[in-house]
Amino acid sequence: MKKGLLKAVALGAAAVMSVAAIAGCAGGNKAENNADVANDNAGNKIIMGTNAAFQPFEFTTTSGIVGEFDGIDVAIAKQIADDMGMELEIADMEFDGLIAAVSTGKVDFVAAGMTANDERRKNVDFSDTYFTAAQVMVVAADNTDITKAEDLKNNKKVGVVLGYTGDSIVTEDLEIPEDKITRANRGLDLVQEVKNGKLDAVVIDSATGKALAEKNGLKVVEDSEAFETEEYAIAVKKGNTELLDKINTTLAEMISSGKMDELAIQYNE
Ligand code: GLN
Repeated sequence: MKKGLLKAVALGAAAVMSVAAIAGCAGGNKAENNADVANDNAGNKIIMGTNAAFQPFEFTTTSGIVGEFDGIDVAIAKQIADDMGMELEIADMEFDGLIAAVSTGKVDFVAAGMTANDERRKNVDFSDTYFTAAQVMVVAADNTDITKAEDLKNNKKVGVVLGYTGDSIVTEDLEIPEDKITRANRGLDLVQEVKNGKLDAVVIDSATGKALAEKNGLKVVEDSEAFETEEYAIAVKKGNTELLDKINTTLAEMISSGKMDELAIQYNE
C-alpha cells in the first residue's frame, strides 16, 4: 500500500447529505425498536460497542473523549451522538462478541475499525465506509526473511487476533497450518511474543500494526498484492435504517468538512 497506512475515505457521491437532516434528528428521540435491551435502558443514551484495544481507533487512556475511551472511532461516535442529541455510552468487549451484541440489541451500533464484509453482512447492516486499511505483518526489526505474505508459509509462527479479518486471511487465504497459528484477544499480547522471539509475525490491520510496531521497536512489512484493501464501517442491527441514516449523515458531514482527515492525522502521531 503506497498511500500511507491510514486513510480516511474521500467524499463519494453517495455520502453527500444535507445538514438539515441532522437538525431533524436532534432532540433525543429513541431508536425504533423498543424491544431492544439497549433502547429499553437508554433514555437519552446511545450505546457504542467496541473493543478498546485497537489504537488509533479505540483505546483507553487517562482522560479520553468519553471517560477513559479515546480514538478515531470514539470521536466519530461522539459526533454521531451529539448530532442525535444523545449521550454516548461505550460498551467495551471482545471483538469476537461485537456482531452478536449489536444484532441482539445489547448495543446500538458497533464502531471498532470493523471491516465491512459479506460474512458480517449476513448478521448486521453497515454504514458507508469511513476509512480504508489493509493487513500488514509486524515482525522483528532485524527480520529479513519475511518480505511478503507468502513467506509466512515458510514454517513461520504467525499471530492473529481472534475473529479479526487477519485471522481469516491467515487461516483461509494463506492456509497457514493451525499448529503455526497463535490466536489472542489483543494485538498487543501477540506483538509481545514477536518481541520475545516466540512468534515470527503478527498479521493485523495497518494503522494498528504501525502503532504497535513503533511502540515496541518492531517493523511493519506490507504486501499490497496479498492483502486487499479493507473498508471500515459502522455496524447496526439488521434493518435499523433509522439509525443507519443518521450515522451516514454524520459520516458524510465529517468527511466533507475534512474532520475525518484531521482525526487520521491527530491520532496517527
Ligand atoms: N478490521 C479488522 C476486522 O474488522 C480488525 C478490527 C479490530 O480489530 N477492531 O476484523
